[in-house]
Amino acid sequence: MTASNRSISITTLFFLFCSVVVGAKSTTEKHREHSTHQHGAGKMGIAFDGSNGKIDLKIPSESVFGFEHEARTDQEKSQLQEALKKLEARISEMVVFAPTIKCLVTKDKIQVVPEDEGVGNKNKVKGEHSETVATFNVLCEKSPAGTRLTFNIQKFFPQIKDMDVDILVGTTQAAVEAKKNGVTVDLLDTP
Ligand SMILES: [Zn+2]
Repeated sequence: MTASNRSISITTLFFLFCSVVVGAKSTTEKHREHSTHQHGAGKMGIAFDGSNGKIDLKIPSESVFGFEHEARTDQEKSQLQEALKKLEARISEMVVFAPTIKCLVTKDKIQVVPEDEGVGNKNKVKGEHSETVATFNVLCEKSPAGTRLTFNIQKFFPQIKDMDVDILVGTTQAAVEAKKNGVTVDLLDTP
């Protein structure tokens, strides 16, 4: 398999996985009205094909940099930039792979996206809410199958009270709620 074929297959797998995760959540979480936007609650997808993976994040911006309207003042702009820089710089301390598999986590993209106002939803004001969405690439020396993953999200972003994490390593799925520092998940080692 060539390098480009391989990256296409990972991307396809990842987006298939994420659409399955998001689809499943929207039908089960009936207590959340209109959308899944809830301050303090983020979503994370981690998907691996062999030793290469992706981390996908979606967090209400209020829980990342303290507000969700468009940054207007210099203070708001620097608050936003500092938080996004921290997310990029600290991701490998927030999502900690086993040191034995030597993973390198690098930013693919980080964006602040205004929440979809929802056509016909009179209660929503344009620009009222926004999400911080991010994608990171993970390159490891070995697959994380059979290793332990540790989450220390609140160490850097204490306002994220509940991070729902869905993990796909090869064909094995796992899910964990990273509600406090030190939450771990053991990834099964299946062929
Ligand atoms: Zn909001």
